[in-house]
Amino acid sequence: MIWNPAKECMSRDEMHALQSKRLQKLVTYVYHNTPFYRNKMQAMDLSPEDIKSIDDIVKLPFTTKQDLRDNYPYGLQAAPLSEIVRVHASSGTTGNPTIVGYTRKDLAVWSEVMARCLTAYGVTRDDTFSVSYGYGLFTGGLGAHYGVENLGATVIPTSTGNTEKHIRLIRDLKISGIACTPSYALYLAETLEKMGLTKKDIGLRIGAFGAEPWTENMRHEIEERLGLKGYNLYGLSEIMGPGVSYECEAQNGGSHVCEDHFYPEIINPETLEQLPCGQQGELVFTTLTKEGMPLLRYRTKDLCSLIEGPCSCGRTSVRMGRIMGRSDDMLIIRGINVFPSQVESVILEMKEFEPQYMLIVDRVNNLDTLQVQVEVRRDFFNDDIGSMLALKKKLADKLKSVLSISADVKLMEPKSIERSQGKGKHVIDNRILK
Ligand code: ADP
Ligand code: ZN
Repeated sequence: MIWNPAKECMSRDEMHALQSKRLQKLVTYVYHNTPFYRNKMQAMDLSPEDIKSIDDIVKLPFTTKQDLRDNYPYGLQAAPLSEIVRVHASSGTTGNPTIVGYTRKDLAVWSEVMARCLTAYGVTRDDTFSVSYGYGLFTGGLGAHYGVENLGATVIPTSTGNTEKHIRLIRDLKISGIACTPSYALYLAETLEKMGLTKKDIGLRIGAFGAEPWTENMRHEIEERLGLKGYNLYGLSEIMGPGVSYECEAQNGGSHVCEDHFYPEIINPETLEQLPCGQQGELVFTTLTKEGMPLLRYRTKDLCSLIEGPCSCGRTSVRMGRIMGRSDDMLIIRGINVFPSQVESVILEMKEFEPQYMLIVDRVNNLDTLQVQVEVRRDFFNDDIGSMLALKKKLADKLKSVLSISADVKLMEPKSIERSQGKGKHVIDNRILK
């Protein structure tokens, strides 16, 4: 099913025309309402009339998270506070949170795009759907919530915490869909097992997972343990919140971007040049219809590529590939780039390990060190030093071949690494303190 075929299946020419019209309107709007952008444009000798089509977007200035911080709290708001009906903040994963105000129309667009996502996952009015992203300043909870209501399914606002009660609700209310972080989905699976239940005791069918990077192997793990089909859901608070892009049933390597509202580009983060489809780089979004805090060319720091071309689901929108990580998450260890998602991929391929890991980076005698802590599954954890050493070596060898640097593997007892109910934490970089 497709929620809004008129928008999701538009011809490329129609989409180009719509985006062009919307960009012109947006640029005029921010020029007159956001001094930050007017100043930037004037400094570049650029006026709204210079933007004639979406292809002119490359003329416009970028916006960074630092710009939002420098103009904290409301400096980039275009609409007056009297028009703002809700405020959210980013999670602050990488520093101080940034504040985002929404007008009534912004909220309507948000629940529209979320309904598109949920419909693509196969959620219908007959589903009972649990929203287990945190409710509050974080956009995950309320963003998904209003999408489920807009679609007409029954929303259960479970948020995070009290996981045993949540599982009983999943069973008793016949909850069929859930939105949460992949980390929380794993925690849910563990709690289910701890309660002596199995996936057969619950009837979950669909998972909308996002808010943090996750690998294909993680998808298989969660699907297997919870007995559902897991779909990617992407978003960020600066642009809207969850609902910026979504996987369809084809799951052919990408997530459809709601590009009538959020225009995506990939740039080379060093030269800031726009890159062609297919090339990896930093994802940039322009909010084509936003009123509260519209942003021009916002640099997300998320690394991925864009995929063009028709999809078997019938949607025509550009897709974004899986996010490899944020440029902020990228560790440079002894000069080599390492992403936590690479480690995750290796660990989840090995049946001996739980999908729980932590990278500890340090500097000893001026040399970077990487320790990978990983939990051994109960069935494989034993007192036989020989077999534990062999397991350690097996993982160390695989990591070396994938990362190109050697890591010290530390095998951990089951359940010894701290679980997360929101975004998972996988890195402790002690070098920052030194
Ligand atoms: P913060 O930047 O403080 O974490 P948000 O809560 O707005 O603020 O989170 C948005 C970020 O979360 C994105 O920029 C991206 O890095 C990450 N993210 C969200 N959804 C996904 C997803 N499906 N896959 C990978 N990363 C995601
Ligand atoms: Zn598709």
